[in-house]
Amino acid sequence: MPLPCVYCGCVSVFAFIPVWALVTAAVVAGLTFGSFLNVCIVRLPKHHSIVTPASHCLHCDAPIRARDNVPVLSWLWLRGRCHNCQAKISPQYPLVELGTAALFVACVLHTGATWQTLVDAVACFLLLGLAVMDWQTMLLPDAFTLPGIAAAFLLRVFAPGNQHRWHTAMHVLGDAAIAAALLLMIWTLYRLIRRREGLGLGDVKLLAMIAAFLGLAVTMFAFFVGVLAAALFAFVLLTLRRARGSDRIPFGSFLAAAGIAAIFIARPAIAWYLSMFH
Ligand SMILES: [Zn+2]
Repeated sequence: MPLPCVYCGCVSVFAFIPVWALVTAAVVAGLTFGSFLNVCIVRLPKHHSIVTPASHCLHCDAPIRARDNVPVLSWLWLRGRCHNCQAKISPQYPLVELGTAALFVACVLHTGATWQTLVDAVACFLLLGLAVMDWQTMLLPDAFTLPGIAAAFLLRVFAPGNQHRWHTAMHVLGDAAIAAALLLMIWTLYRLIRRREGLGLGDVKLLAMIAAFLGLAVTMFAFFVGVLAAALFAFVLLTLRRARGSDRIPFGSFLAAAGIAAIFIARPAIAWYLSMFH
């Protein structure tokens, strides 16, 4: 049965592709892009090129052979060790690949073979990468957030069949600007009150990117969920090991994860919330 788009109910020309074929394509694309995402996660926070040098072991610099570079399978085959020096390869590599594949599958099951699926998949790819990078390095590289805003703009404004390109363009830019301004305001207030930085400017660009992809209403939902999750995490950390005041929480990871969740659950969640007032 064709999967109509959940937003407008349209049935695209691709709608007659069977679901199993869509899911297979999403898994293959997810593993491939997940493999590329690993390269971005390792290199971008260090400002290294994502193109050169070719994939190599981080311990012994040995180049990774093509057959050792197959997503997930190679890691299992090599039992998580470099073929040359036997150094451990982090399970993060297959996990990011599987995570990207799972998100791509969720996207095709959510909106079928539509333009919206492409938009959501690009957002998932960027948000998963940013979540992992912020968790590891407390950095949200501009090389992901700024092109992310541009990608959201182009994908939404030049969506096939969009009759209101100017209107969409104003919406995307306006939503991103308002989201950024909101977080910038909180950032400034926090600095004035606590006299130290609680958020980075990376978080501001991340929220602007989420707004460019998802619109302001869904972004507010993501922001609320992200703040709640980060506060809960800080509370658990504090009770478990009496974190020092200097411990920092990777807020961007929570914000990015909430952005991913919002793609799939924000609309029903907002509708359910509003229905309580009727
Ligand atoms: Zn090695």
